[in-house]
Amino acid sequence: MTLIPLGIDLGTTNSVVATVDDTGAVVVLPNAVGRDITPSVVYFEATDEVVVGEEARQLMSLDPDNGVARIKRQMGTDHPLHLRGREHTPESISALILRQLVDAAGIAGQPAGVITVPAYFGLAEREATAQAAIIAGINVLELLDEPVAAAMHYGLVSEGDRTVLVYDLGGGTFDTTVIQIKAGSAVVVATDGHHHLGGSDIDDRLLDLMLTRISQAVPEDTFDAFTDDSAQIGALLLDIEQAKRDLSVRMRKEVTVRIGPERLNIPLDRQDLETTCADLFDQTYTIIERVLAAATSKGVSSIDEVIMVGGASRTPTLAAGLERRLGLRARLVDPDLAVSKGAALRAHQLSVSARPESLRDIREFKPVIAPQGIVIPVTPRALGVLVEDSFDPAGEHSFVSHLVEANTPLPCRETTSGFGTILTNQESVRIQVFEQAGSVTSPEREHNRRVLDGELCGLKGLPAGSVIEITFELAVDGRLVVRAQEPSSGRELLLEAYIEGVVDAEQTERLTQSVAMTAVRG
Ligand code: AMP
Repeated sequence: MTLIPLGIDLGTTNSVVATVDDTGAVVVLPNAVGRDITPSVVYFEATDEVVVGEEARQLMSLDPDNGVARIKRQMGTDHPLHLRGREHTPESISALILRQLVDAAGIAGQPAGVITVPAYFGLAEREATAQAAIIAGINVLELLDEPVAAAMHYGLVSEGDRTVLVYDLGGGTFDTTVIQIKAGSAVVVATDGHHHLGGSDIDDRLLDLMLTRISQAVPEDTFDAFTDDSAQIGALLLDIEQAKRDLSVRMRKEVTVRIGPERLNIPLDRQDLETTCADLFDQTYTIIERVLAAATSKGVSSIDEVIMVGGASRTPTLAAGLERRLGLRARLVDPDLAVSKGAALRAHQLSVSARPESLRDIREFKPVIAPQGIVIPVTPRALGVLVEDSFDPAGEHSFVSHLVEANTPLPCRETTSGFGTILTNQESVRIQVFEQAGSVTSPEREHNRRVLDGELCGLKGLPAGSVIEITFELAVDGRLVVRAQEPSSGRELLLEAYIEGVVDAEQTERLTQSVAMTAVRG
C-alpha cells in the first residue's frame, strides 16, 4: 500500500495534520468539519463511541466526566483514566485523536507520520507518543521537536547563516530554542521550556478574574450555585477563551454570563489580561534568559532572528515584550499551523530519501539526517547511569553519572569504561539509566528519574573493580539504546528494559484492538 507522508502536530490543546501535495506545496488537511485545527479533546458518548475535536470540546464543557482534554500533559506517566466503564491510558486517548485526524484527512494509503513533540519531552514522553501512533495504526517516520519543525516552516534553513530564537507558546506548553544556521545546515544549540505553561493557563487566570467580578455582582448563594455547576463553568470557560482571542485584535470585550434568572455582561479588556497574566508572561522571559545563557556558554554571541509559534503567541503583548528584551521584531506567520507544516516538509524529505521497501514497517525504518539543509535536534536532558559512590565508606550513597549532556546534538553515541564491579566474584550488575528530571543537571538521584532498568548477568570469577563498558546510543527521535559489556568474557546486555510509565507490548496490542474497535467521529 502506498505510504502517505504526513506532518502531525499532536498538541496539548489543538492538533493539525499537513502534507506536501503533488505540486510540492505544503497543505493543511482539513478535519471532519472542514477546519484546519482540531481541538485535542476526546468525548466518550458510549464505551465504544467517541467524538474528537470541536464537538467533543463542547460536549465536555457540559459533561466533563466523560471527556478528556490536555492528555499530552500526561504522556509518559502511567496515569489510568476511567471512562464509561473502561480503562484508558494517555497513549490510547492520544491514539483516538490521531486516528480521527488521519481518518478525516481521507488519504488514500497508509499514513506515515512525522509527529512533533515539545523539545523538552524526555524519553518516556517520546516513547509514549510513538506508542500512541502505533496504536492508531500510523507508521512513525520520526518524532521531531516542535521548534525544529517551526524553523523548517519559516524556511530559515535555506536563508543564510544566522542564529534564531524560537518562542513557542501553545495551549499548554512553552518551548524556547536557539538554533544556529551555518552553510545551509541548522543545529539546535540549546532548548528549554515549561510543560505547564500556555494559553489554557491564561484562560484559567481570566476565569478567576471573571468569577471575582461575578461574585461582586450577585448574591452569595446565587454565586455558589453557579460555581457548583461544572457545566456552567465549562461553558463560561469556552466564552472566555473566545474573548481572549478577540482581545488579540480588540481592546475590549464583554462576556455574557447567564446566572440564575439574570444575564450579566461582564467587561474584559486587554489591560485586564496583561495584568492578570503578567507573571505567566514573565516566566516565559525568564526561561528565554536561561536558554540564552545556555546558548552563550556554547559560543553563541547574539541572536539575529526571533520566530513565534503556537496560538497563544498571537497575544500582542508578547511580541512587544520580546522586542523590548531582545531588540528584535519577531516573525509571526501562521503560528498555529507552523509546526505541522514544518513536520510535513520533514515527512516529505524522509519519504523521498527512503527506499520504499524500507518503509514497510516502522521498526525497520531508520531515518537518516542529511547533512545539508536539515535541522539537527538535541537531547533535551542529560542521561546517565546510577553508580555506587566508591568514596562512601558506608556504601550507601549512589549518584547519577551522566554520559550524555543536555543539548547534545542527535544522533549521538557515548561510551565509557569508567565503571566497574564492586565485589570479588560479583555475578551480576544492575544497570539503571536515569535522565535529568528538572531543568538543571544534578548527580543527585532525586533530581533524576529512572527510564530504563536491567541486569547484566552471568559474570564469573571476576576481581572487584572489573570494567563494565557502557554505551549510550540516542537516535534523532530520542530513542535510547543502552549496551553494557564485560570485555574479558564478552558478556553483553542490550537492555531488555522498561521505560517507566509507558505501556508494554502486550498492553499496546490490547489497546490497538480496543482503539480499532472504537467508533471515532469528528
Ligand atoms: P496551539 O496549541 O498552538 O494550537 O495554541 C492554542 C492556544 O492558542 C489556545 O490556548 C488558544 O486559546 C490560543 N490562541 C489561539 N488564537 C489566539 C489568539 N488570536 N490570541 C490569543 N490566544 C490565541
